[in-house]
Amino acid sequence: MIVVMKQGATPEQIEAVVLRVEELGYKVHLSRGEARTIVGIIGADDYLLSQDIFEVMEGVERTVRIMEPYKLASRNFVQAQSELSVGPVTIGGARVVVMAGPCSVESRQQILETAHAVKEAGASILRGGAFKPRSSPYSFQGLGEEGLRYLAEAREATGLPVITEVMSPDDVELVNQYTDIFQVGARNMQNYSLLKALGKVDKPVFLKRGISGTIEELLMSAEYILSHGNMQVMVCERGIRTYETATRNTFDINAIPLLKQLTHLPVVADPSHGTGKWELVGPVAKAAIAAGADALMIEVHPNPARAWSDGAQSLTPERFAQLMQELRSVAAAVGREL
Ligand code: PEP
Ligand code: MN
Repeated sequence: MIVVMKQGATPEQIEAVVLRVEELGYKVHLSRGEARTIVGIIGADDYLLSQDIFEVMEGVERTVRIMEPYKLASRNFVQAQSELSVGPVTIGGARVVVMAGPCSVESRQQILETAHAVKEAGASILRGGAFKPRSSPYSFQGLGEEGLRYLAEAREATGLPVITEVMSPDDVELVNQYTDIFQVGARNMQNYSLLKALGKVDKPVFLKRGISGTIEELLMSAEYILSHGNMQVMVCERGIRTYETATRNTFDINAIPLLKQLTHLPVVADPSHGTGKWELVGPVAKAAIAAGADALMIEVHPNPARAWSDGAQSLTPERFAQLMQELRSVAAAVGREL
């Protein structure tokens, strides 16, 4: 980190900053220019230092980070691409992994039927929400443990590993009894108690970008899980809130190649929540694979018109099967399998 002193900062103010750096255990590199002095901090990784420490001091204009504020999530820390294993499935390898299923688990029949259909089409992980983070308290909130039981039954029936959302640290133990991957939803990206609790589990965590979360905030949230002991994390772009209202969210395609640069963690794209419209799911899924996504999450429902949540963005099993065919060519064109 570099501390830039104000023009005309007094020798006492500069000395105070130097002493503060040394007090923290680091060395100083002073650069006295014509107009202003710059204090370089040597030996401190930026992720350990808070900018506030210096920005509140008299005579300081600003601080500049040289490195990212996260470490364990950074490509600078781990250069090799991380691969996560979920049963027989590897996420982060040559093969683009597709996770598919309904927004919500609605009944035993619904999840079993969907599980068989998505497996048949080539998906390798089954998704389904049992604890639903709904914008309205009057909307369907999920079947809870009953939904988790149906999901586990669908795994038994198809052999597909399952992913489901956990909304509270209090539910981690219960969800752990049923799921193969923990999903952290967009609304909980900065639920730090939940992230810390998931740092203690021995299963992959699928972390979604917050509705107004920056890429740096997403990676800082991943860092919470990693720094609490769980290195099995993947990050997901699911669209962000912008001024545009024609679609549910604005899918940030930039996030995919940028995250691939910044982090070694597998990067997932969710074109269903990213668009909110089933007609747009296919084109955006293709764009995400072309941009380098390691996996996709796609909502599929046997009867979208009757879905209890997110019907408008859900593909029918037939449309999903057709899309999977098309995605194979896109994956091949960018040197991936699917
Ligand atoms: C979901 O996956 O159904 C969901 C609620 O997603 P998000 O957290 O991205 O809104
Ligand atoms: Mn949904």
